[in-house]
Amino acid sequence: MSGSHAHDHAAGHRGAPAAAHDHKLCVADALAMADAACKVRGARFTDLRRRVFELVWASHKPVGAYGVLEKLREEGLGSAPPTVYRALDFLLEHGLVHRVESLNAFVGCTHPGEAHRGYFLICRQCGNAEEFREPSLAVAIGRAASARGFDARDVTLEVAGTCAVCVGRR
Ligand SMILES: [Zn+2]
Ligand SMILES: [Zn+2]
Ligand SMILES: [Zn+2]
Repeated sequence: MSGSHAHDHAAGHRGAPAAAHDHKLCVADALAMADAACKVRGARFTDLRRRVFELVWASHKPVGAYGVLEKLREEGLGSAPPTVYRALDFLLEHGLVHRVESLNAFVGCTHPGEAHRGYFLICRQCGNAEEFREPSLAVAIGRAASARGFDARDVTLEVAGTCAVCVGRR
């Protein structure tokens, strides 16, 4: 499915987890973008931060901090919880991962390097979280909020349901 991956890239639909795709390409892309973003920001992408990032990117399913910790322990990296939380904070701070509030879990960002909050479609069947961009939503929400005299700054949107793959449309 590398063809469709390249197409996704070109079309700006990164992050849509197709039914069958070469996830190694997603991870390779994500690492390259993270390296570039860290370089631009002068942030240190240490081995531990990189490994935590890879563990978050293990799939398109959001993973909890505890899950990351367990994996590191299995690998004998035996990091203390605060170390892992700090690594996750670093990734959040630099926009490399998002926190999915409804799941209290983390998922890799598909377009790091731009200031944004994630909008997610979260499948209740397969657990994948697909990040999407829809500028008109932020405009509509901002308008609705300001009509109430509210100064909206951050919009995080998590939509639960069934993804196209699980519905059988892909
Ligand atoms: Zn993938
Ligand atoms: Zn993102
Ligand atoms: Zn699904």
